[in-house]
Amino acid sequence: MAEQAVLPCPWHLPVWTALTARTRHAHAYLFGGLPGVGKRLFAEAFAASLLCLQPESGHACGHCRSCQLRLAGSHPDRLVVEPEEQGKAIRIDAVRQLADFMGQTAQQGGRKVIILHPAEAMNLNAANALLKSLEEPTAETYLLLVSDQPSRLLPTIRSRCRVQTLPTPSAEQAQAWLAERLPELAAEQHAALLLMAGGAPLRALTLHEMDAASLRQQVVEGVKALLKSQQSASQLAERWPSLPLELLADWFCDWTLDLLRLKTGASDTPANADMDKVLPYMARHVRMPALLSWQSWLLEHRGMLLGKANLNRVLFIETLLIRWKQLMERR
Ligand SMILES: [Zn+2]
Repeated sequence: MAEQAVLPCPWHLPVWTALTARTRHAHAYLFGGLPGVGKRLFAEAFAASLLCLQPESGHACGHCRSCQLRLAGSHPDRLVVEPEEQGKAIRIDAVRQLADFMGQTAQQGGRKVIILHPAEAMNLNAANALLKSLEEPTAETYLLLVSDQPSRLLPTIRSRCRVQTLPTPSAEQAQAWLAERLPELAAEQHAALLLMAGGAPLRALTLHEMDAASLRQQVVEGVKALLKSQQSASQLAERWPSLPLELLADWFCDWTLDLLRLKTGASDTPANADMDKVLPYMARHVRMPALLSWQSWLLEHRGMLLGKANLNRVLFIETLLIRWKQLMERR
């Protein structure tokens, strides 16, 4: 196999082998799984394999005419549809372009492949336009949807795709993969990154690149200061201008789960070691109905963030912190 061949992650090889062994493929696939588990890479590898003129045991060969065009980034029968800017919506214009592409004859005389990523970023108009394309499939044209949250897609879109969930690796596999890429870090740091990433290795790598560990440290310090009334919610909201909101929501979700475990007696110590002083103290004071109502507010807003909703960031952080602090107030 050529060096530049695009390969799926090692933990996806069983799914890969079963998929590429098929002689007939569905017109549309929906690859779902945790963020950072390797879905995009899987879709890229599958697209390459579908376009390759002489795949070698299912993998793109890397040297045929089609592979060379792909590697040069100029394959005329491969289209990637994604938001113009990361975190923004996929609009109807992009899906109309997709429909035009589907209507064209393959220029290399073989297959055409479209990767749409992330599928949940389509707004409603775009999703409805895509539905039309899914209802009228074109021969030898394959649509690969990639989504962190397949449940947020229109059910009519899901039902027209072959849904393939890409699994999260075992802790050992994840740790080994990350250690190979970040040899400068200690095993505990790999484990901490993986914990933050929900076990998804590529997400853990991104978190490292974002310096998420030190961002989190700032938030932990901020939350402690908030509870001691040394800092106000609005002061903190202004102090975190570049903190990714979905990270913040994830951390508060983790801490809330810990609170629930402590409160119900399911655990004596929080899983989040950096909050091991704060959470047990909070668990003793917070009332269960307040905790559950906070959790549903948090989950709803986290869903909105994952759905690429445009929240006012300062207002969101401020409201989140006020609600978190209110958990400790007797009413
Ligand atoms: Zn090839």
